[in-house]
Amino acid sequence: MTTFRFQALKETLNRKPVEFTEPAKHSESFGINVFSENSMRQYLTKEAYNGVMSAMTKGTKIDRKIADQVASAMKEWAMAKGVSHYTHWFQPLTGGTAEKHDAFFEPTEGGNAIERFGGNELVQQEPDASSFPNGGIRNTFEARGYTAWDPTSPAFVYGTTLCIPTIFVAYTGEALDNKTPLLRALQAIDKHATAVAKYFDKNVTKVNASLGWEQEYFLIDKALAISRPDIIMTGRTLLGHSSAKGQQLDDHYFGSIPQRAMNFMRELEYECMKLGIPVKTRHNEVAPNQFELAPIYEEANLAVDHNSLLMDVMGRIASKHNFKLLLHEKPFAGINGSGKHNNWSLSTNTGVNLLAPGKTPMRNLEFLTFFINTIKAIHEYEELMRAGIASASNDHRLGANEAPPAIISVFIGEQLTKVLKELEGVTNGKLSPQEKTDLKLNVVGKIPEIMLDNTDRNRTSPFAFTGNKFEYRAVGSLANCANPMTILNSIVAKQLKDFKIEVDKLIASKELKKDEAIFNVLREYIKESRDILFEGNGYGQAWEDEAAKRGLSNNKTTPIALRAKIAKKTIDLYDELEVMSKVEIEARHEIELDEYSLRIQIEGRVLGDIALNHVIPTAVNYQNVLIENVTGLKDVFESEFETIAKEQLELIKAISGHISGITIKVKAMVEERKKANVMEDVEQKAITYCDKVKPYFDEIRYHCDKLELMVDDEKWPLAKYREMLFTR
Ligand code: ADP
Ligand code: MG
Repeated sequence: MTTFRFQALKETLNRKPVEFTEPAKHSESFGINVFSENSMRQYLTKEAYNGVMSAMTKGTKIDRKIADQVASAMKEWAMAKGVSHYTHWFQPLTGGTAEKHDAFFEPTEGGNAIERFGGNELVQQEPDASSFPNGGIRNTFEARGYTAWDPTSPAFVYGTTLCIPTIFVAYTGEALDNKTPLLRALQAIDKHATAVAKYFDKNVTKVNASLGWEQEYFLIDKALAISRPDIIMTGRTLLGHSSAKGQQLDDHYFGSIPQRAMNFMRELEYECMKLGIPVKTRHNEVAPNQFELAPIYEEANLAVDHNSLLMDVMGRIASKHNFKLLLHEKPFAGINGSGKHNNWSLSTNTGVNLLAPGKTPMRNLEFLTFFINTIKAIHEYEELMRAGIASASNDHRLGANEAPPAIISVFIGEQLTKVLKELEGVTNGKLSPQEKTDLKLNVVGKIPEIMLDNTDRNRTSPFAFTGNKFEYRAVGSLANCANPMTILNSIVAKQLKDFKIEVDKLIASKELKKDEAIFNVLREYIKESRDILFEGNGYGQAWEDEAAKRGLSNNKTTPIALRAKIAKKTIDLYDELEVMSKVEIEARHEIELDEYSLRIQIEGRVLGDIALNHVIPTAVNYQNVLIENVTGLKDVFESEFETIAKEQLELIKAISGHISGITIKVKAMVEERKKANVMEDVEQKAITYCDKVKPYFDEIRYHCDKLELMVDDEKWPLAKYREMLFTR
């Protein structure tokens, strides 16, 4: 009898790489499947083009007549690419993307047909969306949801479908997706950052948040993945003994990329190019068979869409290359997990990166203003930042023994720490001419120089300044970036708003000059937010103790971390900035808790199934072989038998011990699940899943992994760690 695993191994070893050669240079294929500014110029009337551009840059409305023109042009453009269907593409609260395809085809009188796509279809659709999570919003209001065109993210062709990025909202106006609050947060940051940037340059009329994500992932052979119900159902291994060699040699990082993975990357990058996703970097990651892909940063809304699209494209191309793509944050115990660094900054319509120092003292004061306000915002809302990256899968990184920790802190490097120290000493009130000169020359004026050698990087920090941007590293690899980006941009917007009020007040009441007022407010901010700055090792117990003293939160599990999302402070924040209403906030909280429980429930079921129906039968089967052996020995050796068969007898006993361990623990876990399942309160249920059900996973796994080491390798049914991690 060959096990499923052996068949899979054979299949893996006989794999021919799927070759791929780019049909054209990247620069030639870039954006060919995007209804970009260029295609618009070509296909639209001047009037329609101006209408869309103004909607994109100024957020103006597009009227029906223009919408009709745009729709018809989009259809022409798409049909020339062999497209037959269109879809409103949106990002429901499940985290993935959703689409429902409709054909352009429309029958006409007399048995004929035409291709039609009008402004109505472009602007609004009503997907039968009753099965998307809504946290009770639509039930309560007895309203339906609809998708509405988001002209700030261009339409694109994917396969034979024209995809129109949309938002998804209830008829009563509440957002039912990840994008609507993001767009509102981006409006807020634009408004308040522009107001502050005007202190430094009157010509600034718009500030864009930019996002450059770095996506980490694992690739394992498809056949091996299929031999593992846990990977197929939950995206991670729920059991499996670690292999003799793991990542301790660090020989994978920046090593040469294995050929099969390389072919996959080339095809993926080509597909990304056509879709206008500006992928730039590829490399191996720390763990075996772990990789990273990063694009050039873009305006945040577009970058979020591109990341969502990428995750979808990646899965498809991986499958074509006989890989299973793992985006889970922790697919393998004892091996580094995956994250998605969110590099973030703010830039003006005048071409200035507000989070990069410049050449003049004034420009550097501007940099410091945005830099310090960001730090202050994180300090004020660290708990919300933590909540924004909470999920069942990311809990395996945050707060488990892996960077970054569940404590949010900001790393700025030694040099900028020094600058902040000096600014703390600025005189209260009016500055003497001498002090002003000194600040200009020796503090603010020195910044660009010191930034050049800002090479010190702290890999354990969840939020680090890296020269011209902040890097939010704690985001999970599986996450939709919209969520953390909504939070980050909202809190900084609120902070900048408050900053402007304070500075204006000082200018008016104390007759301070603008720069004096700014220095004064920044000085207080530095003092107030000192506790969020941390340059040390984020892994250790020492930091946990220190962070507790500083009053920083350390919410290690999702159900608890999510509380910050419904805290009064958060509700007030979103209300003030018009990002989300209380109803929307509470609905989302409920959805996230519910999702958490479901994920743990599924993992529990799958683990129970594997343990009882795969592991135990295999162990019994092998135990029988041992028993047969022992019985034979007894016949042959009679009196000496006990000594000769000693090891086998112990093994037989040990196997029985683990079998009973599994049985007892699985039963106990099922009992806890039953208790959780009847709970009405969503939070209580999630906490029960977290505290009562989940702890059994490790216990059950312990016995299974021990059995893996005891049982005949040939009988073991599930692909082993060494096979999944080291087969290329
Ligand atoms: P790494 O963090 O791997 O060392 P880098 O820091 O060089 O790599 O860049 C990582 C990411 O940061 C890239 O995706 C890049 O596009 C993005 N990035 C660079 N500048 C900015 C910026 N001003 N705003 C947002 N993202 C940026
Ligand atoms: Mg990085």
